[in-house]
Amino acid sequence: MKIAILSRNPNLYSTRRLKEAGEAQGHEVEIIDTLHCYMDITSSRPTVRYHGKELPTYDAIIPRIGASVTFYGTAVARQFEMMGTFNVNESVAISRSRDKLRSLQLLSRKGIGLPRTGFASKADNIKDLIKNVGGAPLVIKLLEGTQGIGVVLADTAKAAESIIEAFMGLKANILVQEYIKESGGADIRCLVIGDKVVAAMKRQGAEGEFRSNLHRGGSAEVVKLSKQERETAVNAAKAMGLGVCGVDLLQSVNGPMVMEVNSSPGLEGIEKATGKNIAGMVFDFIEKKVNSNATSNKTR
Ligand code: ADP
Ligand code: GLU
Repeated sequence: MKIAILSRNPNLYSTRRLKEAGEAQGHEVEIIDTLHCYMDITSSRPTVRYHGKELPTYDAIIPRIGASVTFYGTAVARQFEMMGTFNVNESVAISRSRDKLRSLQLLSRKGIGLPRTGFASKADNIKDLIKNVGGAPLVIKLLEGTQGIGVVLADTAKAAESIIEAFMGLKANILVQEYIKESGGADIRCLVIGDKVVAAMKRQGAEGEFRSNLHRGGSAEVVKLSKQERETAVNAAKAMGLGVCGVDLLQSVNGPMVMEVNSSPGLEGIEKATGKNIAGMVFDFIEKKVNSNATSNKTR
């Protein structure tokens, strides 16, 4: 098959691994710089152009769209969808996943375990907001933060109030969330492909750090999931409509709680921790999907 990876940087571990794994499985794999794509939307035959030429019709695309280019990146991915190309993660699902509030609302509608979370824009609601998520200590998150930046633990209600006021003063959108103390600075990254968790790792924050992000100095090890954790991760991916994603869970006394669903999960940490060929599994998924779409088109 002819498959394009949308990525701004061919040297990133995940991008390199995907190209390598796809080629090893006999596919023709091209890396296309998302921001250099431009679109012909007016014609009856939608196309994507790149460095002065029309791109060929691919069987599938793998979008690896960074948070800073979500708007343009999802527009490019959507254009490929208009052309009938199979997209591993649909543009609308990527947009959903980039908004923590929208994601949590969708997950809550499906009854998936979540930390209690509040959202408000006016400072006169702060006290009630704090009370509603169970009081301090609590976690305050910038809606559009990534890699643990903009996630703050407030130990007391007073501290929480000042931090919330400060963020609101800057017109930043924030979530206020129950602090899951028993997770002990650790979380679980579940790599979901299709309707399966194909790999999972436990990430532990550095000493004295409640955030377990690898970017914040956390470390990772393989973990065996419970049935409930597995189901929660798969249901979360399904609720978001993502084919390949990273679901981050906290282990709480009330069962697994989803913190977020990442539509461009890094492959390096999880492949190194588990020794699995996750990039190859992404192509297995594409092969299955594209072949079954071809069969159902024929029988239509
Ligand atoms: P980001 O998207 O920036 O990674 P997260 O919401 O995943 O932000 O939070 C970063 C880290 O902080 C998580 O991986 C987790 O270790 C910790 N954390 C976040 N929310 C909570 C919470 N409600 N209770 C306990 N720990 C949390
Ligand atoms: N982009 C990375 C991922 O989703 C972030 C992981 C992290 O910060 O730990 O895998």
